[in-house]
Amino acid sequence: AKSEGKNGYQFFSEEINDKVHGELHIEADLRKALRQQGRGLWVAYQPQVDTHTRRLVGVEALMRWNNENGQAVSPGEFIPIAEKTGLITELGGWLLNRICEDLAALRADGIELPKISVNLSPRELREGKTIVDVVLQALKRFGEKVDHFQFEVTENALLADNGPEALNALRQAGFALAIDDFGSGYSSLGYLKRFQVSALKIDRQFIERLPDDEEDAVIVTAVIQMSIALGVKVVAEGVETEAQAEFLSRHGCDVLQGYLTGRPMPPNELASFLRAAERT
Ligand code: C2E
Ligand code: CA
Ligand code: CA
Ligand code: CA
Repeated sequence: AKSEGKNGYQFFSEEINDKVHGELHIEADLRKALRQQGRGLWVAYQPQVDTHTRRLVGVEALMRWNNENGQAVSPGEFIPIAEKTGLITELGGWLLNRICEDLAALRADGIELPKISVNLSPRELREGKTIVDVVLQALKRFGEKVDHFQFEVTENALLADNGPEALNALRQAGFALAIDDFGSGYSSLGYLKRFQVSALKIDRQFIERLPDDEEDAVIVTAVIQMSIALGVKVVAEGVETEAQAEFLSRHGCDVLQGYLTGRPMPPNELASFLRAAERT
């Protein structure tokens, strides 16, 4: 029994070791990428469309990374590590500059995007008001307008130290705010009013089993009703089927985002996607 316990312990510690090694590796690679002007990093843009007309109302910027070996590392993997190590601040700065560069290239191509949503992590908010300076500096450098941008934050980020302060500063600077993954964290409806939230994004977990799952149908309908009553735009994320879109449309959801109406794509693909949409 004793040796079993020992083996069990060894197995466990090796597993942790692998994980730490993996994370250290990703951290080192990411640091290197940032030192090299963000080599391998790029931004994918996912269309957000009006539920009824299916016209583009905005895009969400999503970070992408191909490491030195050309392997795609998912943001679900590297963002939490960037958060933990503090690299997220530098990464966020890189992101805003790249978005502005992409916007300039699209504009030269005759394409003007209506609105760009950018994710902000809890750590970025915790830095407080400096985040606002970083953002404003990037936009100023490229001549981009504040009211073209919306920041997405999760419910939990609102609870972070300095979270409320940073959000108020962003609001005061003229940026729109959206609550990301609504329903998946610690919800407090008070902040919808307190922070003058513009939009609420219903988490994909509630959309996935629509329209058949009765509980999810009730939750989604209630969230939409509440948003309408509060005058907050409601966005459904992870919409993959026409049946989901039909349900959401019927219940008054404003905006759809998901593989059904457009996958996240690099800027050049977004340009052809939008041109094709124009022709139909
Ligand atoms: P999120 O902000 O909730 O982003 C939505 C995720 O759902 C994205 O995953 C997107 O690619 C995916 N998605 C969109 N439509 C569908 C669909 O129809 N079906 C399914 N199954 N998935 C869909 P992604 O790009 O892997 O990003 C994962 C998370 O990483 C994001 O979740 C966000 O929390 C974080 N993230 C991504 N980019 C950034 C960034 O630039 N900054 C920060 N702070 N976080 C980011
Ligand atoms: Ca988001
Ligand atoms: Ca989300
Ligand atoms: Ca999410």
